[in-house]
Amino acid sequence: MFFHGSSKINERGHLEIGGVDTTDLVKEFGTPLYVYDVSLIRERARGFKQTFDQLGIKAQVAYASKAFSTIAMIQLAEEEGLSLDVVSGGELYTAIAAEFPVERIHFHGNNKSREELEMALNYQIGCIVVDNFYELELLDTICAERNQSVSILLRVTPGIEAHTHDYILTGQEDSKFGFDLQNGQAAEALQKAMNSEYLDLLGVHCHIGSQIFETTGFLLAARKIFSKLHEWKETYSFESKVLNLGGGFGIRYTSEDEPIPASQYVKEIIEEVKKQASAFSMSMPEIWIEPGRSLVGDAGTTLYKIGSKKDVPNVRKYIAVDGGMSDNIRPALYEAKYEAILANKPLQPIEETVSIAGKCCESGDMLIWDLPLQKTDSDDILAVFCTGAYGYSMANNYNRIPRPPVVFVENGKAVLVVRRETFEDIVKQDLPFVQRVKS
Ligand SMILES: *Cc1c(COP(=O)(O)O)cnc(C)c1O
Repeated sequence: MFFHGSSKINERGHLEIGGVDTTDLVKEFGTPLYVYDVSLIRERARGFKQTFDQLGIKAQVAYASKAFSTIAMIQLAEEEGLSLDVVSGGELYTAIAAEFPVERIHFHGNNKSREELEMALNYQIGCIVVDNFYELELLDTICAERNQSVSILLRVTPGIEAHTHDYILTGQEDSKFGFDLQNGQAAEALQKAMNSEYLDLLGVHCHIGSQIFETTGFLLAARKIFSKLHEWKETYSFESKVLNLGGGFGIRYTSEDEPIPASQYVKEIIEEVKKQASAFSMSMPEIWIEPGRSLVGDAGTTLYKIGSKKDVPNVRKYIAVDGGMSDNIRPALYEAKYEAILANKPLQPIEETVSIAGKCCESGDMLIWDLPLQKTDSDDILAVFCTGAYGYSMANNYNRIPRPPVVFVENGKAVLVVRRETFEDIVKQDLPFVQRVKS
């Protein structure tokens, strides 16, 4: 077992995060509860930013807010000097509600609607990452209607797909995202963008995957893109001001994961970009990266209360908690693995191996298989680690379960930043079909 950030066992023998005893958090806010270690988020953000600053490289570190988008989190990203990626009108609205500086907002997505593009233009956000020809034409048309210019990047698929422990080189990438670099689509998009009166093409973007533990994929992507940029410079006199290499930096969910430090990714990326730029006698572009998971993932812990048990003799012991796939769908969706402890008695000896079930009506609603754990009593508190990314942001109301609240902890203080949903919230959008006459 390892602890992330400020998490530790305190003198009361309880799990403590951000200087706050988790059993006190449960008393105050109930369960399930998402707890975020604010100082760890700051540390992660600085881990990416510092290396660029130290090496004097022009850069933007954009938080991919789809990993965890709330007003408080976006305020925190602003405090840390990050830029921000949004992928929908709803995420953009959240950023605006948090008063995030619009010039540092980047808009992604493979099917942005006219309304979303108009919203982005209304707020005059920093840059739109154009994904496809449909969007390129639509955006150009809307800009012409409004006589308004906008900065864009072109999303390209360099033919590299990075996976957790390997990467795949493909000639023509079978992906729903971006312009293919190899088959000429990207060059065609480039010409269209350059011919537009309204689109200011800053450069190119790629995002090669998620939960990546090596630098190789990023360096290969940079190399492939540079060889095209060189061609485009010769052919179209286009010089890229920005090279955005996306996100996907891996984190430690369980002791089996061995992530490398942010500084190493950044250092190697900078070295490669410098090398490529000088090899092709091109000027050094600004480097943008887009970490999501790696900024918030290990800062999040979910606290649950333990309820029912079921023993299948000689097979397994199921222990159920008061949440599940409604607050963390990743195990059901991706067979994602997590570690957990009993927050109220983590020092007691491990006595059994149990499997943690959610409370949703789905056999697949299992949070953890085969977890070594202390002997549990009902009302014990289970702390599942590393739930900060794609947990709350993918939470849902399956079985009409209200979504849990979110608490930020730092320096011994807890701040409620998302309220617990109520049953009233659950039926708020419902309208009656049968009008009942009140007598
Ligand atoms: C999802 C996404 C990211 C962030 O990915 P993580 O794995 O959370 O770091 C960055 N850029 C783009 C374009 C994305 O779609």
